[in-house]
Amino acid sequence: MGKRKDESHWWLTEPLSIVEFSEVFHIEAHGAAGTDPEVMARRMREINATAAHVHPMGCHLNGRKLFFRHNSPGDPSPEFDYLEGWLEHARPAGIRTVVYFNVHSVKAEHARRHPEWQQRREDGSAKEDVYTIESTFCLNGPWRNWVFDRLRELCAYPIDGIFFDGPVIYADCCYCDSCRRLFKERYDLPMPPKRDRRHPDFPKLVAFQSDTMTAFMRKSREVIKSINPDMLFYMNSNPLGPDWATGRNNRKLAEVQDILASEGGFFYGDLLSAEPLWKVGMNAKLLEAEASSANTPTLVFDCVGHKPWTYSMLPPTEVRLMWASSVAHRAGTWLAIMKESVEEPAVDDIAPLYDFARRHRAELFESVSLAEVAVMVSKATMNYYAGADVPLTDFTAASRGAEAGNFRDELTGWYRALWSMQVPFDLVDDYAIEHDDLSPYRLLILPNVACLSSGACAALAEYVRKGGTLVGTFETGLYDEHGRRTSGHRLGETFGIRLAGAEAEGPRQWDYLFRHGGGAWTEHIRSAYIPSPRYALNVEAAEGAEVPLTFSRALPDRYAGLAEDSGRPAMVVNSSGNGKAIYFACDLGAALGTWRLAEHLQIVRDLIEQCAPPTVRIPDAPPSLEVSLRRSADAHEVLLHLVNYTGGMTRPMRRVVPLKDLTVELRVPAAVQSVCTLWSPQEIDFEKRKGLISFVIPVLHEYELVKVRLRSKAGRAMS
Ligand SMILES: [Zn+2]
Repeated sequence: MGKRKDESHWWLTEPLSIVEFSEVFHIEAHGAAGTDPEVMARRMREINATAAHVHPMGCHLNGRKLFFRHNSPGDPSPEFDYLEGWLEHARPAGIRTVVYFNVHSVKAEHARRHPEWQQRREDGSAKEDVYTIESTFCLNGPWRNWVFDRLRELCAYPIDGIFFDGPVIYADCCYCDSCRRLFKERYDLPMPPKRDRRHPDFPKLVAFQSDTMTAFMRKSREVIKSINPDMLFYMNSNPLGPDWATGRNNRKLAEVQDILASEGGFFYGDLLSAEPLWKVGMNAKLLEAEASSANTPTLVFDCVGHKPWTYSMLPPTEVRLMWASSVAHRAGTWLAIMKESVEEPAVDDIAPLYDFARRHRAELFESVSLAEVAVMVSKATMNYYAGADVPLTDFTAASRGAEAGNFRDELTGWYRALWSMQVPFDLVDDYAIEHDDLSPYRLLILPNVACLSSGACAALAEYVRKGGTLVGTFETGLYDEHGRRTSGHRLGETFGIRLAGAEAEGPRQWDYLFRHGGGAWTEHIRSAYIPSPRYALNVEAAEGAEVPLTFSRALPDRYAGLAEDSGRPAMVVNSSGNGKAIYFACDLGAALGTWRLAEHLQIVRDLIEQCAPPTVRIPDAPPSLEVSLRRSADAHEVLLHLVNYTGGMTRPMRRVVPLKDLTVELRVPAAVQSVCTLWSPQEIDFEKRKGLISFVIPVLHEYELVKVRLRSKAGRAMS
C-alpha cells in the first residue's frame, strides 16, 4: 500500500485532535495586548487537544500584520513576536504548534500593493470579491517565492507543522499573465473560458490548474521538509465537489501532503433542511477513499461555529456528533472556537472526546473498513456532466446543474438510503474503480455516474464477471471521462440493455412503475402503483435479462385517467459471468433522497438482501442511526461505531433521544472471545448462533464504539 512512511512522525503516532482557539482578530486589532497565550494553552491542555492552529500571520494575508521575525520586502518589521510568545507557553504545556498560513484570501489593501500577484478573471480584472471584500494571489505568479521565503522563516521556530488554508484557484480564475504563458507553453493553445464546461479544451484547463496547485504544494513541502522532516504539512483539500471550481484534485494532493483534510464539518445557516445528518461522515469516507494510494491519515475540519456567524457556537450535541462521525470513519478532527468562547462550559464538553481519542488511538485511527457495499463518487461526472452542482463552501459559491440526472441528488439519495438502513458502506472514486481491488465489495453502486473512462468501464465489466453485483442508474457510462457522449453504450452489454432513444423523458410528475414477475427483487412491495422517479431513459432489455419493473405511460395530468403500462423497462437485471448487473433507467437515487417512499426504500432493501446480506443488523434502529463497521489493524478485533442522530426533529440539536436496549446482530468471521463498549466502558454479554452473535447495548446517547475481540484473525470479507 502506497509509499513508505517514517513511522516515528508525530502525526502517525498521536491522535489528530487539533484545536484552534482563534485570537486572530484580537491580535490584528490590539497587537500583543490582544493575546493570552497562557490561558489558550491551559484551556487546550484541559480539553486534551494534541495540537493547535495558531495565527502569527493574521487571518487573511496582510504584509502589515505579520507577527513573527520576517524580511518580507516592503512590509514593516513585526510589532511583536506572537509566535515566540505562544511557543513559550505551548511547548511546556505539551501542545504542538501548527502555523496557520492563509494562501487563499488577501486583504484588499495588501493585494493592491502587489497587483502583479493577483488572480485575474478572463477579462483581465483582478479577483477582489473573495469573502465579499478580499482578494487572492496566483500560485503561478511571483508570489510563490514570497510564500517559500516566509515558510523558511516560520520553520526557523520550534514549531511542529504548517497548515495552508487554501490554496484555491477560484471558479472564475486564473487568467493572469503567468497562467496564460504557462498554459501556452504546455498546450500551445490559448486558455479556454472557464464558464463553458463544454469547451473542447476545458479538460486541459482542469488538468493544468490541478497540476499548478500540486506543484505549488510539492515545492512548499520541499522547503519545509528540507528544514525539518518531522514538520507536518497539509492544506485545506476539497470536500465533495468538482475539481474545476477550486483547482484541487485530492488524489494528486494526497501525494504531496502528510495528511488529507477537508472542511467536512462546516455548517451553514439552516441545518435542518440544508445540512444532511451524514455530511461529516460522507466527507470522512471520501477522504479515506482519496487518501488510499498515498496512505496518509485523514482529518475533518469540524467548525464549532455556526456559519456564517463567526462568533456563534453550535450546541455541544452537534459538536459531539461531528466528532463521532469523523472518528467513526478513521478521521482526526480539528475543532475551531473563537477566543470569546474559550472559557464557556460548552468547551469543556470537548475534553472527553479528545481524551477518548488519546486512549483509543489505534482503534480509531488505524482501523480498516469492513464494508461490503460501495458507492462511487465520480469526479469526472462532477467536473464534466451537465447535471453537476457546486456546493456552498468557504471557497465556492453554490451553483446548480441540470435537474435531470443531477449527480449530487442521485449520490446523496443512495447515500441517505444506505445510511438510514445501517448498511456499512464505503465511497470509492474514479481512480479506485480503475486501479484498486474491488473484490471486497459484493455490491457496487454507480449513482448516475455518467462520465467513465474506458478503463473504468472495462474494470466494472470485469468486476461483474468475477462475481460482483453492479448497480447503475440513468445515464451511467454514457459519457467518457471528459464528458463527451460516447457512441453506443459501453456498459450496455454488462447491464443487458440497448438504448432505444437518446433523450431523457421527464419530468414524470405523477406517473408510476409496475411490477412484473414474482421475483425476489420486488416481492416485498405490496402496492401495485409505485411512484415513478422523475426522469426516465428509453431502453430495451437484452434477451435473457429480467425486467422486474416497467414504466407507466406518462399521464398529462394526475387525474387524466387510468395509468397504463408502457412495457418499457425501468429496472433490468442481467447476469454476466459469475455476477449480476442491475440497471435502473431512471433517477431512483434522486427519488430516494427527495421523497423517501416506502416502495423505493424496499427496492434498495431487497437489493441489499439479495446481493450483499448485511453483516450487521439492528432491527429496532431508527433511520437516524449511523453505523460504521471496521476492524483493527491486526484483524483481531471487529469495531462497530454507532452514532445516534435521533434528535427532536429539529436542528441544531440540543440533545439526542437516547436509544435503549438496542439489539445488535453481527455476522462474525471467527469465534468471539469478548464484547465490550468503549465509550461507556463495560463488558457486554453476547449469544452465539451459527456464525452470528447478538448482544444488547443498554443505552446509546450520541456515540458508542463496540469492540468484538476474536479468537483468530478476521479477513476483510466477513463470511
Ligand atoms: Zn494566475
